[in-house]
Amino acid sequence: MMPVMSDTTTYAGSCHCGAVRYEVTMAPPDKAFACNCSLCSRAGWLLAFMPATAFRLVAGEDAITDYQFGKRHIHHLFCRTCGVRAFSRGADKAGNATVAVNLRCLAGLDATALPVQTFDGASL
Ligand SMILES: [Zn+2]
Repeated sequence: MMPVMSDTTTYAGSCHCGAVRYEVTMAPPDKAFACNCSLCSRAGWLLAFMPATAFRLVAGEDAITDYQFGKRHIHHLFCRTCGVRAFSRGADKAGNATVAVNLRCLAGLDATALPVQTFDGASL
């Protein structure tokens, strides 16, 4: 058996209707980011950033619609059935693929109990 990092947990995430499902493996978050960009401030989601390697889409690649705006750096992916935006894809400054996960979509995690820190997406 492969050794498992003791400080990480695998969370199951999904949109509302279940068409989009994924798993993320990360340390239990000690805070949530609230992005102030024009999209996230409307949607009200609470997010965590991680390398794409920590994220595994289980189902729904064909169920998501890609929405882009502004500088079009980020793929804002929402379920075309229920409209929930459960995650987004982007890249860091070095070009490595990253994912922003909507913590509100993770089972077994109370995102609203976390301290919220503003992420200045509006300035990117
Ligand atoms: Zn859905």
